[in-house]
Amino acid sequence: MFPVASIRNLYGLSVEELSEALSPLEPRPFTARQIAAHLYARRLLDFDRMTDLPAKLRAELARSFTIQLPSPAETLVSRDGTTRYVLSLPSAGSVEAVFIPSGKRATLCISSQSGCALGCTFCMTGTLGLLRHLSSGEIAGQVALLMDLHRLRPNCFNIVFMGMGEPLHNYQALKAALRLLCDRRTGFGISPGHITVSTAGLAPAIEKLAAEEIVPRLAVSLNATTDEARSRIMPINKSYPILSLMEACGKFLREAGQRLTLEYVMLSGVNDSREDLPRLARLASSLPARVNLIPFNATPELPFQPSPMEQVRRFRDGLLKRGVRASIRASRGPDIRAACGQLSFGAPGDGAAGTGRGESAAGKNRRASDPPEAAMERAAAGELVAR
Ligand code: SF4
Repeated sequence: MFPVASIRNLYGLSVEELSEALSPLEPRPFTARQIAAHLYARRLLDFDRMTDLPAKLRAELARSFTIQLPSPAETLVSRDGTTRYVLSLPSAGSVEAVFIPSGKRATLCISSQSGCALGCTFCMTGTLGLLRHLSSGEIAGQVALLMDLHRLRPNCFNIVFMGMGEPLHNYQALKAALRLLCDRRTGFGISPGHITVSTAGLAPAIEKLAAEEIVPRLAVSLNATTDEARSRIMPINKSYPILSLMEACGKFLREAGQRLTLEYVMLSGVNDSREDLPRLARLASSLPARVNLIPFNATPELPFQPSPMEQVRRFRDGLLKRGVRASIRASRGPDIRAACGQLSFGAPGDGAAGTGRGESAAGKNRRASDPPEAAMERAAAGELVAR
């Protein structure tokens, strides 16, 4: 028997990677496909239950490999039914995922990184800095776990990559996870049209994504209508200003034929002026793209206030009047810090980022070399490119 630390975790490996990992035990390539289908399509996480494999092989697999997914360390349930999970990751560290019930179709808010390097100043995740990238198995494993906990069938829910992290900054793992999630034969069988990847605007990676075999929907966090204002709240804008971002979005729409939405978090006195409205309408019309207006979830640690709801509605109506499809996103789970921009391992009512129950999770994993200030500088210097 190997010591546990040396046993390789098979969860997250593609068919090709499984085939390579299994080759000393089982040279037939078909077996890798069988195991992939068990892991991802049927979500069987125990070799003993893979009964179409010979008993001897199952015993050898159990001795040589493990199947490990993120597991809930803490569960917080909101008044509105939204559930935030703090998850322990198989290879150390933590991340958060959110289950959002909504009529017949729930939404799973999934993380691509623990923390985030981009340091958007209105986002609590950004205050953590980048703790680490997640692997494809840790990304797809969040979906498998939430499906299991909430008894969900594929394509009866939506997935949004709007949890912790900038998905396009962890490009290869995201791409591999999308393959696991979307493959109809050996994967989860989820349609790319039910998956939305949200990005702060890594323009080259948006263009790269447009050319992939599996292209999800895209949500682009715009959040300002001038470079000056956007660079103040989103340091990544210094590397990829609005014009280059709009060009990448246009290319995505032309080449991918997939839906693209502009997200606009409304911050009082920052991006909600009378002049912002026509500029936002022009940017959206130029693509064209739908605009999702997001009321800011005020947090004591961040120096912003939400725009009054009256102003948010004025923006929506003004956009509609100018022929731009626009809607206001309902805030879900703000009482448990599960709402947009609030994920930071904090307990409800925390007064500071990463304090209280969450500090052990965040603090233990924080890379001293990657405080938010350093990440912001690297983002501004254009150092953050898709992996
Ligand atoms: S808004 Fe997104 S990209 Fe910006 S810091 Fe938060 S998680 Fe990162």
